[in-house]
Amino acid sequence: MAYKAVIGLEFHCEMKSHTKVFSGAINGFSKKPNQLVSPLDMGFPGTLPVLNKECVKKAIEMAMILNCKIPEYMEFDRKNYFYPDLPKGYQLTQFFNPVGTNGKVIIEVNGEEKEVLIHDIHLEEDSASLDHLYDTSNIDYNRSGVPLLELVTEPCLNSADEAIEFLEHIKRIYEYTDISECDTKKGQIRADVNVSIMDEDSKELGTKVEVKNVNSFDSIRKTINYEIERQTKLKESGHYDEVVQETRRWDDESGTTIHMRSKADAIDYKYFTEPNIPRYKITSELLDDIRKNIPMLAHERKEKYINEYNLSLYDAKVLVKNKDVSDYFEECVSLGSDPKSACNWITTRVLAEVNKKDDTSIKDIFITPSMLAELIKLIEDKKITNNQGKEVFSKMLEEEITPLEIVKKYGMEVIEDSNLINSLIDEVLNENTKAIEDYKNGRTNMLDYLVGQVMRKSRGKANPVEAKEKLLEKLK
Ligand code: ADP
Ligand code: MG
Repeated sequence: MAYKAVIGLEFHCEMKSHTKVFSGAINGFSKKPNQLVSPLDMGFPGTLPVLNKECVKKAIEMAMILNCKIPEYMEFDRKNYFYPDLPKGYQLTQFFNPVGTNGKVIIEVNGEEKEVLIHDIHLEEDSASLDHLYDTSNIDYNRSGVPLLELVTEPCLNSADEAIEFLEHIKRIYEYTDISECDTKKGQIRADVNVSIMDEDSKELGTKVEVKNVNSFDSIRKTINYEIERQTKLKESGHYDEVVQETRRWDDESGTTIHMRSKADAIDYKYFTEPNIPRYKITSELLDDIRKNIPMLAHERKEKYINEYNLSLYDAKVLVKNKDVSDYFEECVSLGSDPKSACNWITTRVLAEVNKKDDTSIKDIFITPSMLAELIKLIEDKKITNNQGKEVFSKMLEEEITPLEIVKKYGMEVIEDSNLINSLIDEVLNENTKAIEDYKNGRTNMLDYLVGQVMRKSRGKANPVEAKEKLLEKLK
């Protein structure tokens, strides 16, 4: 019997905003605990939440991009439970009326299109965090009240590849819209990964296992593959009843998932609508305003690169995969670089440099878009040759100085003085009467030899194209 895996994801992402979602404290990152905190974030009695409109707009924008239905009002609900990182005793979330429902996105997985259905997306607040030391636990309220978007898919993904491709797609949207940085190092993303298996031809879904709080794409992939294997083994050995509805966690050290609690321990959150936040009307003016400000997303930039700049699909995909790379490319083009040249330099040499070290972004390397544009211009204007360009590129990284400075320092500048080139050519012609004769008798490759001689005399500084043209002229 063949089995099919079914996966549903709950993807939490911390949003970028100036202040927290219900308080005036800064929404930022601090290594020092309890720096970015207001009394509300600590659950002080008498404090009242004030809804952050910036977060509301970004949440609606995301719901729009995911083709979700958007409700008439923005409302929040209390999810009641006790945990030391939740000082109020409840989390403000959207349970009854999420900002987006019934969405869908199309992704491409291994060359094929796949439709992913979005159950809903909702705006909520993050909890504080706990630092567990060897015999105590400390509470850090910096994260308390940080805006979170939680995106819940239908159980419609069928492999780790599909799940990761989907998450990469969502991450790109967050980055291109500036809704979130999705920075794993700052703990900005977390996913609950639901996995089940079912008979290939059955219509009924199998019993799902939920793996909570997996915090990197790499661990999500491993979690899915581990659970599929574990559940398949149980099923194949006739122990299907041992796949029970339960919550597990991913343990990176052992590379396995570990039981946390069973469905019987499920908490009843006693949701009710938050009375202290008046519901917020989502007007058609607000929707129009948000819609017209949605920036160009990765797939739209990709189309533009192919249609307007004549780049190949492959190159366009490489450029848009990461927003910083795409921005770098766009900046070169806006500084006047030919898109094809800029693309060639970026997809080969620039990205090779970026990929040399882990965790390096295109923003970290010495060569900025304006330096690359300067280098491209030097070549276009025939001030240096293509080969010299490659040398300049390497020297820029080694010596951390600009292309012009390198060209000056190493005297690479092509000779622009045509009198000088003319006299060099005349010298070469005088010294090579035999070669000229051969050329005139049909040995056309002698021309390259003569160009070579001019280049040698100029110590590489003549423009080979110009030298060739002038030689041809004189050989007529
Ligand atoms: P719960 O009632 O346990 O919260 P939901 O039906 O609300 O479960 O779904 C929560 C998540 O689990 C969703 O992302 C959904 O896609 C996923 N899910 C639901 N059923 C399954 C299943 N049989 N296999 C895999 N994922 C599932
Ligand atoms: Mg939630």
